[in-house]
Amino acid sequence: MREVKDITAMSVDERIAYAKANSPLTEEELQMIKEGSALTTDRADQMVENVIGVYFLPYSIAPGFVINGKEMIVPMVGEEPYVTKSTTSGARLAAANGGFTASTTGSFMIGQIQMLNIENPETARLKILEDKQRLIEAANKVDPVLVSFGGGCTDVEVRTIETMTGQMVIIHLIINVCDAMGAQAINAMVEAAAPIAEEITGGKTNLKVLSNYAIYRLARARVCIKKEDLGGEENVDKFVSAYAFAAADPFRAATNNKGVMNGMIPVVVATGNDTRAVESGVHSYAARNGRYSTITIWEKNNNGDLEGMIEVPMAVGTVGGTTKFHPAAQVSLKMMGITKADDLEKVIVSVGLAANLGVLYSLVTVGLHGDFESARK
Ligand code: NAD
Repeated sequence: MREVKDITAMSVDERIAYAKANSPLTEEELQMIKEGSALTTDRADQMVENVIGVYFLPYSIAPGFVINGKEMIVPMVGEEPYVTKSTTSGARLAAANGGFTASTTGSFMIGQIQMLNIENPETARLKILEDKQRLIEAANKVDPVLVSFGGGCTDVEVRTIETMTGQMVIIHLIINVCDAMGAQAINAMVEAAAPIAEEITGGKTNLKVLSNYAIYRLARARVCIKKEDLGGEENVDKFVSAYAFAAADPFRAATNNKGVMNGMIPVVVATGNDTRAVESGVHSYAARNGRYSTITIWEKNNNGDLEGMIEVPMAVGTVGGTTKFHPAAQVSLKMMGITKADDLEKVIVSVGLAANLGVLYSLVTVGLHGDFESARK
């Protein structure tokens, strides 16, 4: 691992030169970011409704990330001071210890079909499962492009649930969305499959829409930091008790997870992805055991070193939505050398873990306010 420069004291132009020397970006692409000229009002007018202009945010870089052995500079777009600096210090600490090891479960998302007025819900459940191939075929017909990339609906799950308005049958289409975030694709597929479900059961469908609780699209990262690099085993113990606090107390878990999102969301924004989709997925997963808890775990290993990990749903794409349409999103992906959604997911969770590491290090040593004040001097 090459020594990573501290770019905090550099001028903007020096940082641009650093990014040019350490990423595949061209002078023109970097100038476009510097000038804030990536998104014109005309282009924005094609993205969303009722446009009258564009809104700018700081575009920063976090150098020194090592993820699965690959070194990279990570783009971060956000308004909060100290976040990039603290995330970078987490990344540097990780890199000195071999970096992050990240993995994913694959891009499988869930599309839901809500069925009402079913007289025999359990019989309906079995009938749908017996005939699930018809739903899969109807769904896959609407997105031949996705199917051509090896994606599409792969399976069907059915549950019956009790609600305040009575019993319902809920169908889940399991859809491989490959490199897309997938929302539009999934919504089209559940709408196409719903009439088949009505035909099979004789019931009526109501909502047909994706779920952001993407439990089959998880991304994971872990890191091991030597106790010497944390100022000794005493600080490792402080990390572990900070984790225990967050695991037991939703008040602390909420702030811990906000700190993790401080790292993740700026990368989601920089790559043109949907922040609300990521946030709803992460927070619903944080409450999966019936109580809101932390999404990062810190443990001490047999050597007295610190082991950290994160596992969350991560529905982001490198195609579709705004990712291909916003020129700055393309620059951000190119900066990291990423073309596949899977690789972007690994980066985002690693950055989240780095943010958590950086902030917890401050909290267990000098304190967040003390570190913030010294960073501003
Ligand atoms: P999309 O429809 O723009 O792009 C996906 C399509 O790209 C696929 O259906 C496929 O036909 C095509 N494609 C080409 N190459 C592909 C590849 N390698 N892998 C996968 N697909 C490929 O976008 P989307 O990803 O379906 O939807 C994302 C958008 O939906 C985002 O803008 C998001 O904000 C929005 N959205 C989100 C929600 C939600 O999260 N609840 C709801 C509605 C809309």
